[in-house]
Amino acid sequence: MIRLRGIQERALKELVDGMDSYSVFSLQMPTGSGKTLIGLMFRYSYGYRVLASVRTRNQLMPYVRDSVKFFSSIPSIHLNKGRVCLHMSTEDTELIRCSSCPNRLITVSALPDIAEKARSLLVRAVRETGINDPYVLVERLWSGKDPSTAVCPYQLFNFLDGSMLVCTYPFLIYPYLRVHLIRYRPEVLIVDEAHNLEDSFKTAWRSITYDAIARAREELREYESATGDPADEAHELLNLVESWFLGVSRRYGHVEEKVIRTEEYPEVVTDRGYGSLLEAYSSVVGRVVRYKKSRYRRRRVRFFNYRVLAFLDLLSKVYRGDEDLVLVLDKGRAELRRYRLRSLFSQLFGPFEGSKVILMSGTMPSKNYLVRVWGVPSEELKVIDLGTRFGRFRCRFEHGVSSKYEYRGDGMYSKYSSLVEKVYSGAAKSVLAVAPSYEFAREVGRRL
Ligand code: SF4
Repeated sequence: MIRLRGIQERALKELVDGMDSYSVFSLQMPTGSGKTLIGLMFRYSYGYRVLASVRTRNQLMPYVRDSVKFFSSIPSIHLNKGRVCLHMSTEDTELIRCSSCPNRLITVSALPDIAEKARSLLVRAVRETGINDPYVLVERLWSGKDPSTAVCPYQLFNFLDGSMLVCTYPFLIYPYLRVHLIRYRPEVLIVDEAHNLEDSFKTAWRSITYDAIARAREELREYESATGDPADEAHELLNLVESWFLGVSRRYGHVEEKVIRTEEYPEVVTDRGYGSLLEAYSSVVGRVVRYKKSRYRRRRVRFFNYRVLAFLDLLSKVYRGDEDLVLVLDKGRAELRRYRLRSLFSQLFGPFEGSKVILMSGTMPSKNYLVRVWGVPSEELKVIDLGTRFGRFRCRFEHGVSSKYEYRGDGMYSKYSSLVEKVYSGAAKSVLAVAPSYEFAREVGRRL
């Protein structure tokens, strides 16, 4: 019997009571008050089919630790294939195709016994070693195994528990990685530390740099000399991409986060003949990928031409209006990112139709923000606010002051110092004022 803390009981009751009437929950609970256990209770005590998503690899560990500690079990974990595959180590995870892999067959044909055995083995390993990091567990348990006959860790970790799956944000966010999770059809989808969702939502889907184009050209040369297969059209396309990239960089310089409007998109998308060139390039890239997969078997490998192709494909979709992304120049890198936060909720959770979504954090945004900025439907949203670790704060906006560089000067420093005095005179306790630089703090301080 698990003894929950009072705050955990309240949170669970509010969530479970709201399941029939609401489909989205915003759970605000102080940091360290045991939100992970609440997520696990939905699976192990209430029998829901749960998907829990965390931001980083480190945040997977509490799910492993608490399920072993409280339920003597271990959830399924959607590992990064590119890190645990027995045949390839790569950041281009989507290029690892499992359907005809013999290790997949070995694993699937040994189910469900092998999942049962793996669960006990992993529970024991976590208890005895205190290691909660699934990637370290894979390294330890698979070290020295013959890759031609071994069970696949990626597949096995996905089958550990049929009703509880944990993954990191990228698998929830990137369309080319999330298919597996959508097919999983969770009844309850938990987003842990959900205040981070906004930043992750806006990270680049695909990007390109000058260096990546140069490496793609080297990769083509290596392919040509190893296979004797000429790749003239691919070189032609890379020349086009390179001159586009240089043109854009020249036009905007080494800027930070410059959003380029669709009508300013470079000629690479609109160039006549580009479509057929891209098609020819795509077929060369397919051959280059096959060549590298067999040449660099069981070694770390990167696919530069594939990255260029993926970027160009997506750029064309954005240009045609098929994808709601923007092209952003950021310190020498051209990126395609989501930009409009208003569609955050529908884009991320729309495909999980019928799932109850629980957004939880120690610092959840307000209801107003979730509805008006993230686009959460207000009639479906239940807010459960169980406080923060540091109590409640009142937030006040002052429109008349700014620390923006061009506004700095005598007048603005004086305005700042009178504001600090006003806040100080009305404060019950001490005041912490944070300045953007030493100089700014000195100038304001001098006028106090
Ligand atoms: S089944 Fe496993 S070993 Fe085979 S390709 Fe997929 S991840 Fe790699």
